[in-house]
Amino acid sequence: NGAPDPQPVSTTCPYCGVGCGVAATLLADGKVTIAGDQNHPANKGRLCVKGSALDETVDLNGRLLYPQIRDAVSNTMARASWDQALDKVAQGFNDIIARHGPNAVAFYVSGQLLTEDYYIANKLMKGYIGSANIDTNSRLCMSSAVAGHKRAFGEDLVPVCYEDLELADLVVLVGSNTAWCHPILFQRITTIKETRPDVKIVVIDPRRTATCESADLHLPVKQGTDVWLFNGLLHYLSQNGLTDSGFVDNHTNGVSGALSAAEASSAELMTVAKICKIDPNDLLTFYHLFASTKKVITAFSQGVNQSSAGTDKVNSIINCHLISGRIGQPGMGPFSITGQPNAMGGREVGGLANMLAAHMELDNPTHRQTVRTFWDSPAIADKPGLKAVDLFQAIEQGTVKAIWIIATNPLVSLPDANQVQRALLACELVVASDIIEKTDTNAFAHVLLPALGWGEKDGTVTNSERCISRQRGFLPVPGEARPDWQALCDVAQRMGFDGFGFNSAHEIFDEHARLSTFCNGAAEGDFTPRVFNLAGLVGMDSLQYNGLSPIQWPVLRDASGELRSTQRLLTDNRYSHPDGKARFIATPPRAPVHATDEDFPLALNTGRVRDQWHTMTRTGKSAKLADHVPEAFIDMHPQDALLYGVREGSLARVSSKWGAMVARVQHGGGIGRGSLFVPIHWSNQSASDARIGAVVNPVVDPVSGEPEFKHTPVRVEDF
Ligand code: SF4
Repeated sequence: NGAPDPQPVSTTCPYCGVGCGVAATLLADGKVTIAGDQNHPANKGRLCVKGSALDETVDLNGRLLYPQIRDAVSNTMARASWDQALDKVAQGFNDIIARHGPNAVAFYVSGQLLTEDYYIANKLMKGYIGSANIDTNSRLCMSSAVAGHKRAFGEDLVPVCYEDLELADLVVLVGSNTAWCHPILFQRITTIKETRPDVKIVVIDPRRTATCESADLHLPVKQGTDVWLFNGLLHYLSQNGLTDSGFVDNHTNGVSGALSAAEASSAELMTVAKICKIDPNDLLTFYHLFASTKKVITAFSQGVNQSSAGTDKVNSIINCHLISGRIGQPGMGPFSITGQPNAMGGREVGGLANMLAAHMELDNPTHRQTVRTFWDSPAIADKPGLKAVDLFQAIEQGTVKAIWIIATNPLVSLPDANQVQRALLACELVVASDIIEKTDTNAFAHVLLPALGWGEKDGTVTNSERCISRQRGFLPVPGEARPDWQALCDVAQRMGFDGFGFNSAHEIFDEHARLSTFCNGAAEGDFTPRVFNLAGLVGMDSLQYNGLSPIQWPVLRDASGELRSTQRLLTDNRYSHPDGKARFIATPPRAPVHATDEDFPLALNTGRVRDQWHTMTRTGKSAKLADHVPEAFIDMHPQDALLYGVREGSLARVSSKWGAMVARVQHGGGIGRGSLFVPIHWSNQSASDARIGAVVNPVVDPVSGEPEFKHTPVRVEDF
């Protein structure tokens, strides 16, 4: 009919932290086609099966399309106008703040949010309400890495980039089933290994996962013993003269304390091998490989972070890179691979309860005043807020009386998830912004606000290598859904606050970029310049923002006005501590908080499967994705199944001191004796509760507050 062919829109995948570029096309008949974006540096045209199935997840079935308010008499949700819903939220928050103070309200947000949404949520809570009670589901994902970076580098810095994985001669993957959880990154590693077979891959993981199939060496470390292993490596490097003393002397502090702790726990190889349950010859092979290879990347993920010793695990890894000088140069360094699409963007705007925007510190008065001056805000939170697990406990105890949950489903995903249910039942005001109407969490909401989803909303995300990419809307707005930043601004204005008159994601991004520059330019006194800086992106007009190509921060402009992306950090050996040096951190090892015993003899491990994402509100729509693993399962060793009287293919109940779930038993997932593995995605199925979150112990790392998802004592029995 002469109409032009529909053109693809460049956007970014909403799933894992690899942050692949997607070319999405809306066809004339309303269907969507998906392809990898050839021009995106993260994936160069490739997509994994989840990204490829995005077209199957954008229908409107199950969508929350208009605001709803719970009727106090009938206790049912009824349709409301936006004005009614926003008034109810603003009045409810103001009323509770007036009666109980700002710390009686909270936000619980998500690594699914775009940076612009995240920025507004933080500004409202920390700068206007005056509380730091805003935490995020990224707390469950990579907060230990953030805390480890800050301790070692003085700032939350990921020094490396994806290309470093291709330049390395040794890639160590710790607590990461990269093949399933970050598939495109894994493809990049294995592709290089095909062209350079001398590249070595070592996998350190209690399970023999799909990632191990490409490994030269798999160390099936006992759950929770990673610090012994890396302390052993630190000691080995020191004892064998394999340290970079020039780097250590000139650019670090604290090596003797770290070495003392390493010697105390891990001086004997046989002791480490026994504690970690690893063949001593394999352990020595790994130590020798690390010591003899200059270009080493140690990439780690949730198996390291999700632990009551998660921050120490991160620092025990970083210590080994510092002592050997394997950092700040191509092909080497520690690499935290983030789980969610915008975990990094959330960190940039201070999305955790213990951070401020623009990498400012909440416990630093100069930083607080700098941010408050820029915002011209009536208040600034003066102490860290409640981290995720503590937050929901405070709600149950009644000290927090209102919560706004945005783009996350804590009734499935948090540890001790039954406690979350009790908390929401006890809460005076539960507001939930979501794209889906019926979720486990939304069932307890008093107000539901419909949000835009992927393909509809507009903004930026930052992936694991600090690359800022645009997510662009290409689908029509469904029903009365709005961007989350807009709902937050509308509530802020109704609460009586100036400073939220934004008309677009572009305007918010510009303020975010200006804040990063203001912080580096205006602060005085005990202020150490931050590496995070978006000076080059300040002042973009809407066309430039819409056309922004992927770019890695810090982003500056060179003398000719050209944008300058930064591929890797710490190349000048300048760290963000006041003395400019990195810190070794002493890491005396600690076992998981709860040990297995007679009643609960098995150690539960949890994680993802290849083709599902989080609580399946999106990936659960795709028949293609469901084919891979159609239901929840309990993976266990056949001899343990025999011992505890359960059979492969039959239903069994896994229970802990905190709760229980039911799923079918299977073998073959590479699990050793004494452990179970259960995926995190499912909630109810076959009329049984399949939420593994209900079973997980609510223990957290004392520094990062990240929960111990990888070790809960449980028992299993026939159902
Ligand atoms: Fe999306 Fe991650 Fe797959 Fe890339 S690797 S397509 S970001 S899920």
